[in-house]
Amino acid sequence: MRLGNERESRNVEDRRGQGGSSNRRVSLGGGKTGILGFIIVLIGAYYGVDLSGVVGLGQDSNFQSYQTTQSSNLSMAEESELNTLSRKVLYTTERIWGSYFKQNGLTYREPKLVLYTGATGTACGTGQSVMGPFYCPTDEKIYLDLSFYHDMKTKMRAAGDFAFAYVIAHEVGHHIQNQIGVTQWTQQQQRQANSKTAANKISVRVELQADCFAGVWGYQIQQEGKLDQGDVEEAFVAAEAVGDDRLQKQSQGRVIPDSFTHGTSAQRLAAFRKGLQTGNPAVCEL
Ligand SMILES: [Zn+2]
Repeated sequence: MRLGNERESRNVEDRRGQGGSSNRRVSLGGGKTGILGFIIVLIGAYYGVDLSGVVGLGQDSNFQSYQTTQSSNLSMAEESELNTLSRKVLYTTERIWGSYFKQNGLTYREPKLVLYTGATGTACGTGQSVMGPFYCPTDEKIYLDLSFYHDMKTKMRAAGDFAFAYVIAHEVGHHIQNQIGVTQWTQQQQRQANSKTAANKISVRVELQADCFAGVWGYQIQQEGKLDQGDVEEAFVAAEAVGDDRLQKQSQGRVIPDSFTHGTSAQRLAAFRKGLQTGNPAVCEL
């Protein structure tokens, strides 16, 4: 990526080196924005289907299964580079989504990015590196241990700045869902739960929509000429690497479709590509 001239977001809370601290600063943002007109989200087909254990917890287990160590596995130079990259990427999401919201007469509430090592307190419970990056809808913060990048590179074979940026953009996708009412809707569905399989199906839709939103962000970055040769392929590898089928095969040696909560590699790739090719959030239906 070419982010040389990009500003760094000011919405970063640096808790690195405070491993396990209960630095809990809950900010329950302002009023909810409600459903955005420009996104067709609530497709009737999914009404009545439940969602247990998905959005409510605010934990994105998308990238879990990849153990991270408590101490950073990054070199000083790598860590510093990823720190700057994360701040710049977050800034690009702020201006891109800020402008989409503005075009629709709405105000984008910028999420905070919390950088931490090992474990940290969140309004959704204790965040731990082993969970992978996640978004907590209650405090509207994205939690990221930079050492996840090391895992992407070594265990998921998804290296590169754009692949890492995609992970942040995906979490921002969950924040968009929170602002447009998808999170609240899915929590409501969760209360009407009737089976785990049905719940997982909704969970998959939620994850794929976040991937699609990440693609919409990628489209804009591409339009601005900020991608290098191979960047898109890089993100595709990342999207593919975090598919449930792939993760399950690696961790259990077999695939159980009913337990998929985040979509298969192919589904995730398709969702990301849909956003990336159109740049239109309206195609990211739930
Ligand atoms: Zn997710």
